Amino acid sequence: MSKRDYYQVLGVQKNVSEEELKKTYRRLAMKYHPDRNQDDKKNAEEQFKEVKEAYEVLSDPQKRAAYDQFGHAGIEGAMGGGAGGFGGFGDIGDIFESVFGGGFRSSGGGHRAFRGADLRYDLTLSLEEIVAGTEVKIRVPTQVVCEKCHGSGARPGTRPKTCPSCNGQGQVRVTQGFFSVQQTCPSCRGTGQIISEPCPTCRGNGRIQQHKTLSVKVPAGVDSGDRIRLSGEGEAGVNGGPPGDLYVQIQVRPHPIFSREDSHLFCEVPISIVSAALGGELEAPTLDGRVVLKIPPETQTGKVFRIRGKGVKPVRGGLTGDLHCRVVVETPINLTPHQKELFREFEKTMHKTKRHSPKQSSWLDGVKKFFEDMKL
Ligand SMILES: [Zn+2]
Ligand SMILES: [Zn+2]
Repeated sequence: MSKRDYYQVLGVQKNVSEEELKKTYRRLAMKYHPDRNQDDKKNAEEQFKEVKEAYEVLSDPQKRAAYDQFGHAGIEGAMGGGAGGFGGFGDIGDIFESVFGGGFRSSGGGHRAFRGADLRYDLTLSLEEIVAGTEVKIRVPTQVVCEKCHGSGARPGTRPKTCPSCNGQGQVRVTQGFFSVQQTCPSCRGTGQIISEPCPTCRGNGRIQQHKTLSVKVPAGVDSGDRIRLSGEGEAGVNGGPPGDLYVQIQVRPHPIFSREDSHLFCEVPISIVSAALGGELEAPTLDGRVVLKIPPETQTGKVFRIRGKGVKPVRGGLTGDLHCRVVVETPINLTPHQKELFREFEKTMHKTKRHSPKQSSWLDGVKKFFEDMKL
């Protein structure tokens, strides 16, 4: 079940003051209190709960801010509810499929108001943009009321006629054998009206598709899968219903150097065999510039250097993560004959003991034991 917008539940504007909020809550809580609604207790209880939940969130400045930014998802995250509770619309593959795939319910009576569909917009950002936070402009398709026919769908100067098949009811009775069944009128498809001369601008739809440009504030620290809710920027409502919301779904582009896990960043840093053996300094990349890393002598591949505070600041609060640089010792290539000679010279100085290659020695010991065990 999708949750209703908290502001809508309380019937207040988005900029409602704390005092006004409290007043509205008191009034609604009285109205829906189960004790005062003995005849429809169950329904009242449900509405009471909904009102209470909405008030609990909106009266808490921190929760309210999270809700304004992320919608219900923001609250669930803050309350530790996990991502599972985000109901209402499934994962739709492509942008706006929910709208153009026919997102509207058929209007049974012809004149009922419906809330517009929620829309989804996929926004891909770089890791740099995510870490710093950014503001982007997006262009989204939207359906607006046709100005030529003011939404009637009929050619200007003409009017839609009442459907003769259903007398404007939108429903017809069909007799099937002994039964009489109520059905959506096939002539007017439930609208109760017939447009004999459709408006040339909207081809009888009453609405036309346009594009609008919206500004989306992306707070620092969001991650792939997070959604930002733009309240009321979804599909226009039908017959005067409220508009839906627009959900901007964040996707982070893979970075050539860094990978991210929660608030931490990871990267690999190649070092030469010489720096690994003798120690040295190395410039490591971070998202806000270079950092000099001291490589101690005898550093092995796989050693991780942690640079505190150079990760990501989580959007829902908490400490900024660290950057983990994993060292990889690189084997030199394209050696000249002279360099090869130097390596051979060097090899001769190495004793076949544990002194110089602890890993190799213990590995060889292991292999030796393995073969001895096999013989048994
Ligand atoms: Zn009809
Ligand atoms: Zn029109």
